[in-house]
Amino acid sequence: MSRSPIDLAAPGVREINPYQPGKPIDELEREYGISNSIKLASNENPLGPGAEVLAAIAKAAPESALYPDGNGFHLKETLAARHNVDIDRITLGNGSNDVLVLLAEAFLTPELEAIYSEYAFAVYPLAVQAVGAEAKVSAAQPGDSLSPLGHDLHEMEALISDKTRLIFIANPNNPTGTWIKSRELRDFIEMVPDHALVVVDEAYFDYLEEQDFPDTSQWLEDFPNLVVTRTFSKAYGLAGLRIGYSLSHPDVANVLNRIRQPFNVNSLALEAARAALGDQTHLQRSVDMNNEQREIVAAGLKDLGLRFIPSVANFILVDMDRPAMPIYEGLLHQGVIVRPVGNYGLPEHLRISIGTPKENQRLLDALRQVL
Ligand SMILES: *Cc1c(COP(=O)(O)O)cnc(C)c1O
Repeated sequence: MSRSPIDLAAPGVREINPYQPGKPIDELEREYGISNSIKLASNENPLGPGAEVLAAIAKAAPESALYPDGNGFHLKETLAARHNVDIDRITLGNGSNDVLVLLAEAFLTPELEAIYSEYAFAVYPLAVQAVGAEAKVSAAQPGDSLSPLGHDLHEMEALISDKTRLIFIANPNNPTGTWIKSRELRDFIEMVPDHALVVVDEAYFDYLEEQDFPDTSQWLEDFPNLVVTRTFSKAYGLAGLRIGYSLSHPDVANVLNRIRQPFNVNSLALEAARAALGDQTHLQRSVDMNNEQREIVAAGLKDLGLRFIPSVANFILVDMDRPAMPIYEGLLHQGVIVRPVGNYGLPEHLRISIGTPKENQRLLDALRQVL
């Protein structure tokens, strides 16, 4: 066959660089013949799900032969109460990733444009390219600014055109750990014309204790073009079950409901998420450990003479000041998996997730050895 099937793929799809996930522990141990490895590569909750979630999963498991409730009624009801919003504003997804992709499928065409920042979450380019739309990538803030490599809302504003339909803002952002204050974000959304949706991706919302951090779920009445996404993958510790959601104008939810898979969220995830919302003690324990340990990791990095971007999330982006891949490989040999971010255009940085106290100590020790 002279023509590769790749040549037959839709033009946007041909250009896609596949998402590079963190290396799974099992793969590392198979390849390197080692054991007792730790993974600080995918911003997962190192405490795992709480006991109530595990019990809810066990209870739901025997029903696995049945299709899930395609409308996720009980979870939506719990979320509606929690956010004090009407249930028809909620869209459930197979991870919030699913909702981000649905937004691109529903609102973009090859004639239209989406805006996101340099060094923003890797799923935005994937979602936009998959539908062949044009990506307008805004310059990030300089490395020596107050929000190093973070979103520059003025640069984003400058890219808005008649063709803009989606503007993705990760707050806080992954992989930088930077964040946008309430006033600044609100002023931005107020300025955006009503032919563009502003998607505020709040995957790390639960870790934030900063005074000026916005809870945009409370702005939905003010902005019909605002979409907020949240996930159970990070602080709630359910990354493996794949469940997230958006809050939006009911008409946006209506549109997304037309194109989602009828059973896009599985039954174990629906029950686990509901149990996770009911166990705020486990959530608080997870957040407290993270925020305490983040300071300890930061101090350890400083002791090693490394520069990093101050983070409000459950990871830290570290500037190795030299090609980061050899350091990444060195850490793998020590059984410590972190995340290279060359695919984000940051070949000299590594993103390190915050683990348990023991894991973090092991990371710092391994890093000292490798350096
Ligand atoms: C991890 C992450 C997500 C969540 O992905 P899920 O599909 O919900 O697991 C979304 N946005 C950002 C910025 C993230 O880092």
